[in-house]
Amino acid sequence: MSDCIFCKIVKGELPLAKLYEDDDILAFLDIGPIHKGHALVIPKEHHETILDIPDDLLKKQIVIVKKLTKAIKTAVKADGITIGQSNYKHGGQVVLHIHFHIMPRFKDDGLKLWPQGKYEDGEMDTYKKKIIEKLE
Ligand code: 5GP
Ligand code: ZN
Repeated sequence: MSDCIFCKIVKGELPLAKLYEDDDILAFLDIGPIHKGHALVIPKEHHETILDIPDDLLKKQIVIVKKLTKAIKTAVKADGITIGQSNYKHGGQVVLHIHFHIMPRFKDDGLKLWPQGKYEDGEMDTYKKKIIEKLE
């Protein structure tokens, strides 16, 4: 997609701190890191969300996420790693080209990624059924 930032990165039209590349996948440092070493893993082909990318390509992408997670954890001596992946504007996705965030985390870094809600009595069962009905 011509107006997609990540497609421009793939085409070499924007600078990048490249961490990994193969025929299908590219990984590079996020320009606005939660902690230094925060990386992004993308398919070279433009697909918007996790629902758009073909399964075979997604499998390749997640294996590279794992490979980079191992390297980043050791390289920056992280105590933990959070993997993030947002879909659609209202899911927090800003760049509409599917990507996984690999975020180094540290003991007592104070970052809380999301609040925890709770279910009323019986509600968990209702939601469980609603979701299972839609599994394809
Ligand atoms: P999202 O909010 O869509 O999950 O994440 C998009 C991420 O892309 C953000 O964390 C942002 O810092 C990163 N980003 C946006 N533009 C660029 C860029 O030009 N280069 C790099 N390396 N990262 C970018
Ligand atoms: Zn793109």
